[in-house]
Amino acid sequence: MSQTDPTPGEIRGAAFQEAAGRIVAYRAPGSGSLYCVGCCHGNGLFAGLTSDDLPDGGLCDACGVDVLIPQNT
Ligand SMILES: [Zn+2]
Repeated sequence: MSQTDPTPGEIRGAAFQEAAGRIVAYRAPGSGSLYCVGCCHGNGLFAGLTSDDLPDGGLCDACGVDVLIPQNT
């Protein structure tokens, strides 16, 4: 048992703070589908969403990642 390893909740909290104030995902007009920044490259038709708009997170419709968790790719 380690006292230094963060709990999953702490990891999520850190990711949330890092994402605050910047675009973390895009919402497609019409369908309302959610896309992560890796799948939607800021096409002007898409509405940018920050973590404030997604307090509970969300899954990308294309690749299935949680948009509040930064991807390294
Ligand atoms: Zn995606």
